[in-house]
Amino acid sequence: MKYYDKLIFELSHSGRSGYSLPSGFDVDCGCLPQHLKRQSPLELPEVSEVDVVRHYTNLSQMNFGVDTGFYPLGSCTMKYNPKINEEMAAHSLFTGLHPLQPAETVKGAQEVIDNLDHALAAITGFKHFTFLPCAGAHGELTGLMLIREYHMARGDFNRTKVIVPDSAHGTNPASAAVCGLEIVVVKSRPDGLIDVEDLKPLLGPDIAGIMMTNPNTLGLFEKEIGKISSLVHGCGGLLYYDGANTNALLGEVRPGDMGFDVLHLNLHKTFSTPHGGGGPGSGPVGVAESVLPYLNIPKVSGFHGNFGVMMRAYAYILMLGRENVKMAGPYAVLAANYIKECLKDAYKLPIPTVCKHEFVYDGLINDGAHDDVPGATTLDIAKRLLDYGFHAPTIYFPLLFHQALMIEPTETESKETLDAFIDVMHKIAEEAAKDPEILHGAPHDTPISRPDETTAARNPIVKA
Ligand SMILES: *Cc1c(COP(=O)(O)O)cnc(C)c1O
Repeated sequence: MKYYDKLIFELSHSGRSGYSLPSGFDVDCGCLPQHLKRQSPLELPEVSEVDVVRHYTNLSQMNFGVDTGFYPLGSCTMKYNPKINEEMAAHSLFTGLHPLQPAETVKGAQEVIDNLDHALAAITGFKHFTFLPCAGAHGELTGLMLIREYHMARGDFNRTKVIVPDSAHGTNPASAAVCGLEIVVVKSRPDGLIDVEDLKPLLGPDIAGIMMTNPNTLGLFEKEIGKISSLVHGCGGLLYYDGANTNALLGEVRPGDMGFDVLHLNLHKTFSTPHGGGGPGSGPVGVAESVLPYLNIPKVSGFHGNFGVMMRAYAYILMLGRENVKMAGPYAVLAANYIKECLKDAYKLPIPTVCKHEFVYDGLINDGAHDDVPGATTLDIAKRLLDYGFHAPTIYFPLLFHQALMIEPTETESKETLDAFIDVMHKIAEEAAKDPEILHGAPHDTPISRPDETTAARNPIVKA
């Protein structure tokens, strides 16, 4: 163990201090009632300034982030977020605003929101957006409330069910349930696309709509979206588009043109805000003409939503400009297909067609399993990647395959980075075939190797 791997409490030395106050400095604590005063000193580590600096700097390096290495993390678009966005969002003229300021003094911020509305409308093919929702799932709930308003306003009170494909992101059925809707599942075919024949008998006067994403969670474009759109509209339902990750579409196609009526975007994914650890987010909801009259009904958050995230998205779009926004989709798709083709000699590719921004392997072709040694699983591969300095892809999702490894390289990675990742994945496949024990014990070089994942999730101890 290295000296600075010690806890800061272990470095503590009684009487040592990292600061000094001017002598004669006195603060009158007389105003505090006795019973509120601390009876014994707070048990803080007593260390020098440099020990504190090393403590925090070392902690920062124990983590893995997109600023330290490649992150092939599908479905969450954990993509590189250009630093100019942070600079713009941190500008004191914006951070100093107060939500209760008179409207005529915040015209600049209002202009940012209006311009972002126009840009997103142009990119997606929708009329207007509300920026109140503060996350993707929050946007889904808002969008479903809009769909409900639409049906109610027409006196159509019996549309209580929403159709969700079995490949959907988990938030889709959850949001529908929170909105009081009943979920009806439509199955995927073996080629990963929605089974239109399975969809037809589900449609009727009780259907509020369908929630879809296209390309879907397997990274496949739903080629029959035109047919699906006319079938759902034909029964009086609306189409909801989960646009959390629109990387593959940027500049190529627009959900508005595919027949969708309502969508949410995750500005914190596609439009570039760092969002690890649950926030901050922004899930604006866009509507087509049909739903426009209801756009401002749900008041799902205070004031104007998460303005800092909007600011980052606006800076990102302006920085790229119209032509380069259009390049993000093709580059994301090219990078995904490149990796997919280069590794299919070693990893099982259940759906061997052209993918969009992401694709799914189903574990190794040769996982090194013998009678006495179990084979290398997807978890082993994910853990071993850390030893080679890469983050793991999404694993065991979607649930359609037992050993799912979902890979999404995104548009910003160079061919050299993709090649380095491909080399490492080949190396891991060779290790699995020869000596799977190396993989079973991975990662070998991280501060913590393999926590008990269930206990860590169910009973986290987040303080010493
Ligand atoms: C991330 C994601 C969501 C949920 O977004 P949150 O901001 O985490 O609530 C919904 N759908 C898809 C496809 C996603 O990738």
